[in-house]
Amino acid sequence: MNAYIERVLAETKAKNANEPEFLQTVEEVLSSLEPVINAHPEYEKACLLERMVEPERTIEFRVVWMDDNLQYHVNRGYRVQYNAALGPYKGGLRFASNVNLSIIKFLGFEQTFKDALTCLPIGGAKGGSDFSPIGRSDGEVMRFCQAFMTEFHRHIGQDIDCPAGDVGVGGREVGYLYGQYRRIVGAAEFGAMSGKAVCTGGSILRPEATGFGAVYYLREVLKHDGKGIEGLRVAMSGYGNVGWGIMKKIDELGGKVTYFAGPDGYIHDPDGVCGEEKLNFILEMRAKDPMHCKPYADKFGVEFVEGQKCWGVKDVDVYMPAATQNDVNMEWAKKIAESGVPYYIEVGNMPTTNDALAFLMEQKHLTVAPSKAVNACGVSVSELEMAQNAQRIYWTAEEVDAKMEAIMKNIYDASVEAAERYGLGYNLVAGANIAGFQKVADAMMAQGIF
Ligand code: GLU
Repeated sequence: MNAYIERVLAETKAKNANEPEFLQTVEEVLSSLEPVINAHPEYEKACLLERMVEPERTIEFRVVWMDDNLQYHVNRGYRVQYNAALGPYKGGLRFASNVNLSIIKFLGFEQTFKDALTCLPIGGAKGGSDFSPIGRSDGEVMRFCQAFMTEFHRHIGQDIDCPAGDVGVGGREVGYLYGQYRRIVGAAEFGAMSGKAVCTGGSILRPEATGFGAVYYLREVLKHDGKGIEGLRVAMSGYGNVGWGIMKKIDELGGKVTYFAGPDGYIHDPDGVCGEEKLNFILEMRAKDPMHCKPYADKFGVEFVEGQKCWGVKDVDVYMPAATQNDVNMEWAKKIAESGVPYYIEVGNMPTTNDALAFLMEQKHLTVAPSKAVNACGVSVSELEMAQNAQRIYWTAEEVDAKMEAIMKNIYDASVEAAERYGLGYNLVAGANIAGFQKVADAMMAQGIF
């Protein structure tokens, strides 16, 4: 390994020893940059990697709110404003009980490269809280969001930082957060948050964007091998906003999601999650109880395998992990490799442990695509939302969809080109890291040292 990368990795490990998720992503990204760093000795002189791994700003704050029984609760809010060399900080807010600084930093670091890959003018950030909306009433969620924004508003703005949703932060939460922001600043500053409902300045297709974009990316991967989505069978994990969008688009394009997994086990529906009834049922099921997918099996009379993941099933063409981080470890990766299934398309952020990812990439029969490219359409449509807000206009669904397709094709092409340029062959994982890194690096070098 390049000595400069090795040194920065060692220093980062020493400085952030209590942040395993953050160290995992830094190691994954930096270790794929070797040929670029070798070709640019000036980066070491400019301390470029040291600057990249250190967030520009880390904000932690107290959030106090009252539940329906008039009890007070104290949660912690976070925003890691990672890198604004390319534009205003951009990235979601995650509300989940396991949120901590390590998770927000890993997400912010990934976001910086993902946002750069979109070729849109946005920097990278991530935030959230250890508050979980699961099991909370609507009033409790609203009061939490208002309390969160009462502190948070001073750190964001349409030219500063534009947060959006992530796990646990959907349209409802963004609505409450943006409403409180608007009341505090006393202006309809739409561009200070994205993922808003269309009636309050949101972009059409934003809720579907990440899932649809993942399928547009998959279409490019298949096209490379002379294949298409028609007749394709997919096994996935997750059926949140992103997973649901994938199911919908795959169905529209003539493929089938025949397996999907939730926290309680997995579903096998040989006919696929197709048609309005099934897709709507998924939405209802998730709204009632996001921890169980078994009701789908009860409703449609299909198989449910309790407590298991569907990685390793053989009667599919593509695996798409679209749930949480580290869903696929070495044990599951071995099953995936043995199955002979030819495509492993990451969707959720960091769904694969580093050893499992390296192992999967070594399998000759397998094409591996990285989440920071595959799931980049969500943040891309967020940026399109900012662009529409700045012009005070709405684009039509056709206009937004055409831009989504073009952005995803561009991300795929840029990744392929970057890997080839550095003699790495058809390597979508390294290609995405290099293409994203190069954009951020160029902007940082051009702006001088600060
Ligand atoms: N949380 C999403 C992501 O990981 C969306 C971020 C955004 O729209 O700003 O990219």
